[in-house]
Amino acid sequence: MEYSKLVDIYEQLNRTTKRLEKTHIISDFLKDVSVDDMEQVMLLLEGRVFPNYDAREIGVASRLMLKSLSVATGISVDKIENEWKKQGDLGLVAEALVKTKKQATLHSTKLTVKKVFDNLRKLAELEGEGTVERKTQLIAELITSAKPIESKYIVKTILGEMRIGVGEGTMRDAITWAFFGNKIGVEYTREMNDIKVEDRAVYNKYLDAVQHAYDVTNEFAEVARAAKLKGLEGLGNIGMKVGIPIQVMLALKVDTIEEAFETVGKPAAIEFKYDGFRIQGHKDEKGNIKLFTRRLEDVTKQFPDVVGFVKKNIKGKSFIIDSEAVGYAKKTGKYLPFQNISQRIKRKYDIDKMASNFPVEVNVFDVIYFEGKNIINVEFEKRRRLLEKIIKQEPKKIVLSKSKVVSDKKDVEKFFKEAINAGNEGLMFKSLNSPYKPGARVGYMIKFKHMMETLDLVIVGAEWGEGKRAKWLSSYTIACLNEDGKFVEIGKASTGLKEKREEGLSFEEMTKLLKPLTISEKGKEVKAKPKIVIEVGYDEIQKSPTYESGFALRFPRVIQIRADKGPHEASTLDYVKKLYASQKKS
Ligand code: AMP
Repeated sequence: MEYSKLVDIYEQLNRTTKRLEKTHIISDFLKDVSVDDMEQVMLLLEGRVFPNYDAREIGVASRLMLKSLSVATGISVDKIENEWKKQGDLGLVAEALVKTKKQATLHSTKLTVKKVFDNLRKLAELEGEGTVERKTQLIAELITSAKPIESKYIVKTILGEMRIGVGEGTMRDAITWAFFGNKIGVEYTREMNDIKVEDRAVYNKYLDAVQHAYDVTNEFAEVARAAKLKGLEGLGNIGMKVGIPIQVMLALKVDTIEEAFETVGKPAAIEFKYDGFRIQGHKDEKGNIKLFTRRLEDVTKQFPDVVGFVKKNIKGKSFIIDSEAVGYAKKTGKYLPFQNISQRIKRKYDIDKMASNFPVEVNVFDVIYFEGKNIINVEFEKRRRLLEKIIKQEPKKIVLSKSKVVSDKKDVEKFFKEAINAGNEGLMFKSLNSPYKPGARVGYMIKFKHMMETLDLVIVGAEWGEGKRAKWLSSYTIACLNEDGKFVEIGKASTGLKEKREEGLSFEEMTKLLKPLTISEKGKEVKAKPKIVIEVGYDEIQKSPTYESGFALRFPRVIQIRADKGPHEASTLDYVKKLYASQKKS
């Protein structure tokens, strides 16, 4: 295919900001792209020459581009740089330069997509002595044969500045329209800015098939090729390949334990929700290990330690596992928040030093491919059992995620406290009989980070009400326990109680309980012996200088009296601090 054809599409795409119009332009274009050209066209359309999971980069900075343009046009670097300052965009500068040049010396070799693509890839592969010269030549060669408008896009692609607004959603839709449009009656109406679809359900079936194929391959070219050659069946047969990342399954968020159970069913697996970063680990039959982040960046080089654990501690010739790597303090072994290790992800040098200073523990929670087989459709419970068999746990290196199968709210609460106390963010709920759904935020995995987590607090004071509440103690000063066993105030709660007895816990009842505990009274304020423990809900924990604990509750509400708890079993300040830290991350 001639490069000018692709450039024409770029131009069309640049002329509109509307997503549907962009989709239409690409889908029309794709119908004419041959299977052989597909990979190059698809990548270049997204402004790249490697798939997003491929760590290779073109690696050309503006300086080198200036030099290459100078070589190609015979115009001095200084002059080009001046133009650049004026225009602010090297792509536009290249276009203008080539335009003046072309009038003088008419050049006529036609650039092909393949030639552009090949030269750009070579740029990424060059290493060692003479690299700068070789790169300059490769770029200059393209610019010399390019039409003015082509040179603009060549320069922008090389510098990673395409910005034509073609995202993954647009690509997915365009492939669906291009290859299944006739089956689903998709019709784009420019006037209405909409698409007409005769049958949404049928449309979604094709759309989902395209999305799924993309989720497991992460290559639109492969998806488009399969759709073009073998239709729906072809998409269904696309399998995952070890070494190529698949989109990770995402979690839904809920606020209450009830909601979590409703979504994943009972019994459910609950796991610690670690505050690290996701690592998808691959091992192929030759023993090669690759690691990818949640955004599918290849971080194999950055984590030689993790490569070692995956190689040594997981049995199996080939597999793909899903895990969370968590940083911990070298001295104490305690988990550290994500920020502490995030710097390792992009690191290019001193990697071993970083690994030693910022060690991570890998917490494995899923396996989606094993011994040559895709097992995403195997139930979670069985995948977990397989994991338990193949992982040799070594604390502070690689372990299984801490997990429990439960049906009871109380068990969840207990486990939640354990999780928070161990420095985690909260819990994950997993549906026992669900598949692994790449790229999807479906209800198979739920995150539960706290919010509605209640506190058990001690009433240390109260205030007489006003108006019709004047006869009751209607606002309660509540406290938690500090490290020395002292009650430190954390707020005042006055909602949640009822004015009428028959409606539930009433002000009258509470007043009766508190009056005998009075230590002193001053105006409306009453100090009370710390005896009564109440369960308190709230919207958020905030830092506050007003109360001795250093914290305050936003919208506190009394839920019930915890008659089963003595004051020294109240929530601790340490726990409040941990909840505060965990909520900051959500
Ligand atoms: P969030 O990033 O808040 O959407 O929460 C989902 C993320 O929690 C996942 O992408 C994982 O990186 C992380 N995570 C931590 N522990 C687990 C676990 N046990 N199971 C699944 N994901 C986990």
